Amino acid sequence: MVKIILTAILFSCLHAQAFTLITTNPNQTGWASNEITFLVNTANCPIDVVALMSNAVAVWNNVAHSNIKASYGGATTSTAYANPTTVYCEANFSAATGGADINFVPAAASVHTSGGTIYEGIIYLNVSAGQANIANFDSNVLTITVAHEIGHILGLGHSTDANALMYFDGSYKDKLTLAQDDIDGVSYLYPSDEFKDGHFAGCGSVAHLPPPPPPPKGLLLLTLLMLLPVAVAVRFRTKSYENI
Ligand SMILES: [Zn+2]
Repeated sequence: MVKIILTAILFSCLHAQAFTLITTNPNQTGWASNEITFLVNTANCPIDVVALMSNAVAVWNNVAHSNIKASYGGATTSTAYANPTTVYCEANFSAATGGADINFVPAAASVHTSGGTIYEGIIYLNVSAGQANIANFDSNVLTITVAHEIGHILGLGHSTDANALMYFDGSYKDKLTLAQDDIDGVSYLYPSDEFKDGHFAGCGSVAHLPPPPPPPKGLLLLTLLMLLPVAVAVRFRTKSYENI
């Protein structure tokens, strides 16, 4: 009994929600639309930021039970909050981001909300004289970093789950994947519309149904008789090859 209780506690701990939202507004949601686009200003960028964005947004799409559609939408000359979200390379990174450390922070994101709904966003990429200039990272690490910033733009804060893409420190991550906690977060903000008005929810419980009945005996015999010529032919062919 003790074992069962301990297992139950562990199970519930493993499934605890760890994701947070980007604001403390109790009414915060995501964007009004589930189609969220990013425009890139490539001026001052030392690397191919367009390729970076295209790869980074992809990880947030195709989450079962979420209808989110994040995408790279083209070029911009903006360096300000906008809808679609602006992505640009900032040389005065610390000043622009309210004091982010240029030696440790390669990118930062921010959104504006109205009534809890996000309506514009911005992603800053660090191209300052500091150690965390994006030119100093390999493309895999940068893609993971930018995918994390995209998570903020979608409306997610930092997760306490160290496996999550939205964990505050992604420096040890070497693979761009979503953890269950990231999936929970994006599914909460952008749920799929399977339960929208007028839709039926076909909820399965097939594991509790009796197994299907076996085929009638006559049908089984007929199948065996039909397969007999095939078996003979295969045997004949095998024999022919053996003789070669
Ligand atoms: Zn973050």
